[in-house]
Order: sequence, then C-alpha cells, then structure tokens
Amino acid sequence: MKPIKMAPVQAPAFRDLTEQIRFVEKEGKIWLGQQRMLLLQLSALGAVRREMIESIGVERAKGFFLRLGYTSGLKDAELARKLRPDASALDMFYTGPQLHSLKGMVKVRPLEIRIDQEAGQFYADIEWENSFEVETSRAEGLHSDQPVCWTLLGYAISFTSFFLGQQILFKEVSCRGCGDARCRIIGKPVDEWADAEDFLRYFRNDPIIDELHALQAQVANMRQRLQEQAGLFYGVGRSGVYRKTCNLIDKVALGNASVLLLGETGVGKEVIARSLHLRSERAGGPFVALNCAAIPPDLIEAELFGVEKGAYTGAQQSRMGRFERANGGTLFLDEVVELTSRAQASLLRVLQERELERVGDSQTRKVDVRVVAATHEDLLKAVREGRFRADLYYRLNVYPVHIPALRERREDIPLLIEHFLEKMHASYQKKTLGLSDRALDACLGYDWPGNIRELENLIERGVIITEANQSIEVEALFPHLQTELLSIGLASDGCLVEQSALAGDECIERLLDQRLGLDSIEEALIRGALRRSGQNVSEAARLLGMTRPALAYRLKKNGEVGSAGEQ
Ligand SMILES: [Zn+2]
Repeated sequence: MKPIKMAPVQAPAFRDLTEQIRFVEKEGKIWLGQQRMLLLQLSALGAVRREMIESIGVERAKGFFLRLGYTSGLKDAELARKLRPDASALDMFYTGPQLHSLKGMVKVRPLEIRIDQEAGQFYADIEWENSFEVETSRAEGLHSDQPVCWTLLGYAISFTSFFLGQQILFKEVSCRGCGDARCRIIGKPVDEWADAEDFLRYFRNDPIIDELHALQAQVANMRQRLQEQAGLFYGVGRSGVYRKTCNLIDKVALGNASVLLLGETGVGKEVIARSLHLRSERAGGPFVALNCAAIPPDLIEAELFGVEKGAYTGAQQSRMGRFERANGGTLFLDEVVELTSRAQASLLRVLQERELERVGDSQTRKVDVRVVAATHEDLLKAVREGRFRADLYYRLNVYPVHIPALRERREDIPLLIEHFLEKMHASYQKKTLGLSDRALDACLGYDWPGNIRELENLIERGVIITEANQSIEVEALFPHLQTELLSIGLASDGCLVEQSALAGDECIERLLDQRLGLDSIEEALIRGALRRSGQNVSEAARLLGMTRPALAYRLKKNGEVGSAGEQ
C-alpha cells in the first residue's frame, strides 16, 4: 500500500467551489455549478424529521435520510470531477467535505486518511463538528440512543464510493446526537465490514405504501370474516326447512329485488338480511338496519330520510337519514308495518324514484339502496284493514321469504346452543362444560315462543350463572321451574310444563339411596297399582303393563292373593 497519510490533513483552496455559487435573483434561483440549490430553514427540516420519525418510525426515517444524503453525495461527486479534473486523488476527495461545509451541513475534520486507489485500499477516520442533524435533533427534542447524522453519513458513503470507483462504507462510531463527546466516522471498503449487509439494507427502497396496501387488504379480509361470523346463523342450521330458506335467499341475493322477510319475532330476520347483503354485489357497501317499531312515529321520517337544520324544533343540525347512510348498500327495515302513513308514502316514492328529500329540505338527493323489509305481522291483513298501503305492499312483496320458527327446526337447536355457548364463553371469558343432559333435554322439548333470540338469552343467562368448568343445569336456564323430581315436557299447546318424573334420574337416585332392593320396589309398585285401580287386578295389570295372569301369579307368590279381591 502506498499510503497517503495526513493527520491533520491540509485541505486544498476553497475558492474554486465558492465561485460556483450564483444567486440569480431575476430567475429566482440559486446555482451551485449546474445544480439548482435551495436555501431552507434548518428548523423546517427539523420539523419534517420529527414528523417522519413519528409517522414511519426511526428505522424507516433513518433509511430515508441516509438515501437523501446518498443522492446528494452522488451529485456532488459529479461536480467535483468536473471542477478538479486534474487534481490529486486526495484533493479530489476533499471536494466532498468542502462542499459539505460550504452548504452549511457540517465541518469536516479528517483525523486520518489513507488512499491507495490502485490497490483498492481506503481508510478514513473523520471528525464532524457542528453537524446540522445533531442540532435539529436537539432543537426538536428528539432523544436518540443511536447516532443521528444520517444524511451526512449517506453523503459520505456515496461521494467516496463514486470517487474511488468502489463501494466504501462509513459508520458513525460516536455521535453527539446520542450523548457522545463528538461525532466521528470511520470509512472502509464494504468487504472489510463484517456487518455490511445489515447496514446496506437502509439504502434499499422500502416503500411503506406496499405494506400499507397489504395491511389494508388484511383488515378488509378480517372485517369481512367478522361480518360473516356475525351472520353465522345462515351457516348454523342443517335442517331441511332451514336450508330451503337459505337457498331462497341465495337465489335472490344477486340483483336488486326487494325482499320481504316474514316470520315470528326472534327468528333471526336481521341476521338473514345481513347474510343476504353479504352474498349480494353490494357486500362492499354499508348494511344499515332500522327497527321501525323502535322509533317514535313523529320521528320516523327524519330517521329514514334525514333532516335539514331548523326543519322542526330540536333539529339543530342537518343530518343524514338511514337511507343516505345505506347508499350503495342495503337497508333493512324491520317491523315495516309500524310506519306511519306519511312515512309509507315517502318510502314508496324513494323505492320508485330512487331519490329522496330530507325533512325540511327542498333539495333532491339520489340514493342507491336495496331495501329488505320484514314483519312478524300479516301484511296483507294490515292492507285489508287499511293500516298499510297496498301499492307499497306490492312493491315490498316482490320476493317474500318465510323464516321458520325455531320449533319448526328443532334439530338445529343443539347446533345453535353450541354456537351461542362459544359466543358467550368468549364474551364472558369463562368456559363452562356446556349444558347438562337434562338441560339439553329441556331445551329440545321447549317451544321457544321467542325463537332464537330467546335461546340466545337463555344461554347467556346460563353462562353467567354457572361457575367455570361446571355444567349448565336446567335450573340455570329455566329458574321458574321447581325441578326437584320434576321434568319438563311439552303440553299440547306447545308450552313448557312440569311433569311428575316417575322415571326421572333423581327418583331412581332416591330409591337407590334408600337401599330398598328390587323386590320391595316391585311390591310397592304392585300395591300402588292395586290402590289406584280400586283393587281391580285386571286394571292394575294394565297399569303395570302386564297380563292379568302374570300379575295374579305375582300376587299369589307374594301371598297377597287373599287381600286382593279376585274379580
Ligand atoms: Zn453525529
């Protein structure tokens, strides 16, 4: 190595560089050679630095400023070659530090520089004074546990690499920006750094926008899945009658036809409506639901169509109605029969004209909304009674779908129970062992006048009452029943009733507890049957499910022939 070693190094004259600066007022430009420059407040750059660190994080901001310096260094290396074509290697190299200080970025003090271009050898030990980046970091109060002179470092790397025709890497080994006594950088050929690869990744463009797009796609995906889970009823249910309903919904989902959902309260009409929405071309748009029965009649129009400021006392500001909020999506109107006659007229107009006026407004607004209506009442009957407009009825009733009551699909009850158990376990962060056999029996036998909503409420109550890792007992679900030695059955009118549990588990337990023995129980049963039949052996035999001769034989064997009258 033919070292050129200087410490401290004598820099060449400065004048050839300063002569390159021209302020051309009439153009509104500043030139450094062929490059247009800017005079920019340091504080403005400091604010940008802070904002970048806060918005994209230190690592990405560091990469950004390193690349900023890198680009600047390349430009200046080009300039140096033009200005000092015949200069010595060292003088040429000095252009970089001199331009750096000329531009007010830093004062460069070389401590040791060794250059052997032919052998491809390079070593630099440089001190920086008055780094603009240390100053901006301090001014912005940006505390750092690593060196902060990123732009300067990027500049040093690209300038030196260009000038030497080989990749040189600098590192800031100490920095005032992170509490060291001085800023100092060491430069060596890239292959002399063991961890060069870690550092070089800062120079690769790492567009945050791709990551943002990927994350946005993920969020949209997860939201879709959550919505699908919220509409899971559509999937919970294997009974034929329910699958038939789902098929009907599937057939009408694509397209814009109005759908009318019929069925008892609590059968899951909103969930079906949401499922319809998710299976339609409007799935990306909003799904808005409104229970017309829950809004006072004099407010229903404002709720549906929006209101302009000052339309009535209390309308202090303009706001959108449900129709406008559902624009591009689906509006679900539950208990549509409850609409006032004025609201019915407005609804008909929106369905026909696809435009609306807010209450108290004369401006017409276009809306693109698919309406799914629902009612638990017989709409046609309401039409005959004059409570519902016939023309609106025909408009809504394009595609009526009956949602079956829960008792019409009993085989789905266990699936729904599982579904709600999972949901409640998650929301109460507690896991029960599920329903006891008796509780499940009771659920299967019950008539569910409140349908799926009632089932959900019951399971919720069961999960709340029951301790973790315990089974949900029938008493937790149906607390109004005295269940000792009782079982739950279904009366002919479909209501839950209490029945004597002759063969109930608890009865058996009790008999076993008393250690009566099989013979005593048989005797007790026979005596009971005779008592009930008024000592009539034929009748008692029927009660016991035996033939008369068989009972007579037992009585004779037990020595009770005499006491039981032979008839
Ligand atoms: Zn520094």
